[in-house]
Amino acid sequence: MNEPPEHCSKSPSESTESADDAGSDETTESLFLGGEGGENAYRTAMERTTDAVLDAFVENADPYSGASPEALREEFSEMEMIPETGEGLASALESAEPVLRNSVGVSNPRCLAHLHCPPMVSGLAAEAMLSATNQSMDSWDQSPAATLLEIRMVEELCDLFGYDDSGDGVFTSGGTQSNFMGLLLARERFATERFGTDVTQSGLPHRAKAMRILCSEEAHFTAEQAAAHLGLGENAVVTVESNDDREMCLDALDRTLAELDERELLPFALVGTAGTTDFGSIDPLDELAERAEEHNLWFHVDAAYGGALALSDRHRELLSGIERADSLAVDFHKLFYQPISCGAFLLRDGSQYEHIARNASYLNPKGASAPNLVAKSVQTTRRFNALKPFVSFRALGRDGFGALVDATIALADDVAELLAANSSFELVAEPTINAVVFRYRPHRMSDERLSWLNEAIRESLLREGDAVVARTEVDGVTALKFTLLNPRTTLADVADILDAIQRRGGSLSTVFPEVSR
Ligand SMILES: *Cc1c(COP(=O)(O)O)cnc(C)c1O
Repeated sequence: MNEPPEHCSKSPSESTESADDAGSDETTESLFLGGEGGENAYRTAMERTTDAVLDAFVENADPYSGASPEALREEFSEMEMIPETGEGLASALESAEPVLRNSVGVSNPRCLAHLHCPPMVSGLAAEAMLSATNQSMDSWDQSPAATLLEIRMVEELCDLFGYDDSGDGVFTSGGTQSNFMGLLLARERFATERFGTDVTQSGLPHRAKAMRILCSEEAHFTAEQAAAHLGLGENAVVTVESNDDREMCLDALDRTLAELDERELLPFALVGTAGTTDFGSIDPLDELAERAEEHNLWFHVDAAYGGALALSDRHRELLSGIERADSLAVDFHKLFYQPISCGAFLLRDGSQYEHIARNASYLNPKGASAPNLVAKSVQTTRRFNALKPFVSFRALGRDGFGALVDATIALADDVAELLAANSSFELVAEPTINAVVFRYRPHRMSDERLSWLNEAIRESLLREGDAVVARTEVDGVTALKFTLLNPRTTLADVADILDAIQRRGGSLSTVFPEVSR
């Protein structure tokens, strides 16, 4: 490293300014915890950060400032990202204020678009601890207690989902990575058994062209993404029709399996979804597990969204069969209310990990007895995200979490009733968890007009900062979606948003561009 610039090597006593308005006079010592002045700098910075978050973010009445991409581009274009000379921490923290002011208010009760949760205070506190301690989960000597705590957390999670002692797993960045890991292990096992090929060593054999992954039409796009990354190609994913409740249709699955067999294609993995992103629907997991056993398929369950039902006495039944999954994905940054990012990949038979084990002489040399988690993850340097659910579970308990989840599901049912009773709206599907898909449709109109109108309503709500609502496409026609994750959202909040939608819908209807009759 270069010598620190001259002004940095000054000791605090030489500085003429107080720590409060230090300009760029931070000393090398005060830049780091443990250094002289570092402790004060940390405390001050964390206090200022807390104040800034509360003042510029949490206090906002509306879930979004309404700033357009152009307005934000303009605001930031003037701002130097990498200035020649530092302005000091106090001032630097202030320059982040427009970011806070124009962030989407995830904790606002009228922010109900995506599977994007209001983070719990317990998780935010844990987040501060895990970033300050900065443990890295790849090797034990970089994260001694953190490694052991993550191992314990994975054990109890395996237990929560009905796995026995052979279960194993690891924390991940989220569902994308967990789904990738499930399909990666599925691919390795199949290639070993069927072709006698160690794909990790030799790459994919020619016959891998015939390998197929099955999932429903409503499955998350990361199944296809994983297929692409695994060298199988997106075309290796065969989607199975879903029924009116948006669950995988078993007849269609049986038909598809028979067809694949006839065409001498090689299905090796079946992905069930417990909580589809759009509808929250849950595939019939027990029946899927049966088909998987029958056809020797790896059964992966994507429970990124619905996994939290395991905490609810009232709704746990919906996950029945998940304990038969070879692997599963669960996200804590969705219905478990933990700050991003935080997910886990769980494996029913931990010995399957042998397919991807690798050893690096500097991290986990062969024969080392220390518990190094690097071999269980596709990441190397990795955050200690397990601390967040740990602190939150301890704070709230399983029943506390269960009550939150139950309340959001009850709200979704009430909202569905409200929509069904209002002739200006069309409820697209009965909610399973807490996602409600609907359209504003005050009278009959063309699909094109209906799509335009609902999208225009969504945009206008966001632009005015009134509510953050999602859009999706159902059977080729745009629909609106509430994802009611926030336990603080009330039926009155939702009723207000529906009023706003009707008002906007009414005025937008008169300005529909002349693209169709
Ligand atoms: C959110 C989600 C994913 C993707 O997970 P990330 O945490 O965003 O990586 C995958 N599957 C389902 C069903 C999801 O809801």
